Parts: sequence; structure tokens; C-alpha cells
Amino acid sequence: MRSILIPVSTKLKQSGTNGWNISNQKRKEASNLDDISADIKFPPDPPSKELIQKIIHGFSQAQITSIIEEGSCAVCGILCPCSKLTLLTNYKEKLHLLSDNGRVVTRRERKTKSDPVMVIPGPILNFRSDMICPKCAQSLDKNKPPELALANGLWIGDMPTELQNLTLAEQLLIARVRHNRCVVRVSSGMHKMRANAVMFANPTPTIY
Ligand SMILES: [Zn+2]
Repeated sequence: MRSILIPVSTKLKQSGTNGWNISNQKRKEASNLDDISADIKFPPDPPSKELIQKIIHGFSQAQITSIIEEGSCAVCGILCPCSKLTLLTNYKEKLHLLSDNGRVVTRRERKTKSDPVMVIPGPILNFRSDMICPKCAQSLDKNKPPELALANGLWIGDMPTELQNLTLAEQLLIARVRHNRCVVRVSSGMHKMRANAVMFANPTPTIY
């Protein structure tokens, strides 16, 4: 044991520019536990009135309604903090990007069986909102239809009240399709890799 340990420690002391030695020194300076432990009093003093006031002020500032309130995007229908939404009227000239291009994406509500099947004319939007989210705005700025735009075949119309705010279990129960996705995590860089998605039709007649 002695013959192995002694030469290693001597070499490190002599070579001040050794890579391992430098990183070790830096690590020691960064942690510097000996110096810190001398200054720290334990147990520490209770927080000062100023610190408590600062923490409460910061918390209440982060809870302001205008910061946490969400509104829906007229283009994609996704909820987004109201503070980040901008007016859709600023993008009036770009609304042609949100047309159906001859595809049947929307459907006008029919009151009787004899009513004809018709699409809703004009750009495909969530008419309950007049705001646009930053992602959709960015796409329209580049003259590209947003990937998650309702015009991209994602329009489903107004959601019935009974189907709003469902729990996860209720959502799974009414889903027409159950799906499975394979996600692979790579340890270096924490990247995700998505493989194939498997979908099966739910036995809806059996459930109801
Ligand atoms: Zn959007």
C-alpha cells in the first residue's frame, strides 16, 4: 500500500499545472467549507422584518390576477396567460393562412335532419376569443400557418358543457381511442426520442 500511495501524492504536489490538480483546487475554492463554516452561526437568526416583507411582497406580486389569468387563443384554442396574448386584429392581413383550402374542417350546426351539411365560411378561428398566443403570432409573422391551428384539421366546434372540466378518468372513459406511445430517454443530454404510437379503438358501445 505504501509503495503505491506515496509516489502519487508527491507527483500531484510537484505538478501545479496538472489538469486534475487544477480542477481539484477550483472545486476546493468553490466549496471552501472550512472558511464558510467558521462564519455561519447555527442555528441561524430568524428572518428580519425586511426579509419577511420582501418575501410576502414577491409572493403577492406573483399571484396578481393579470399574471395568472389564462385566456384562449383564437387561432389554436389553447389556454395561455392573458399577459402573453396579443390582439388578433394586428394579424388581419394574415388570416388567409387560416382558411380551409377546400378541405372540410368545420361544420355548421344543424337543428333538423333536413338542414344541409355546410361548412362555416371564412378563416377557421375560435370565435369566443379575439386574442392570439405568442406561438401562433410567431408562425403568422413568418407567413406560415401554425402547426396547432384549428385550421390544421383540429377544429371540433364548441365543447358541450357536460364534457368540459372532466377528470382524467372521465376523459379516458369517453375517449374513442386509447393510445400508447414509446418514449426513450437518453442519459447524455436528457433528450427524448419518440418511437411508434399504438392506438386501439375503445369498445364504446360496451361502455355505454
Ligand atoms: Zn395559439
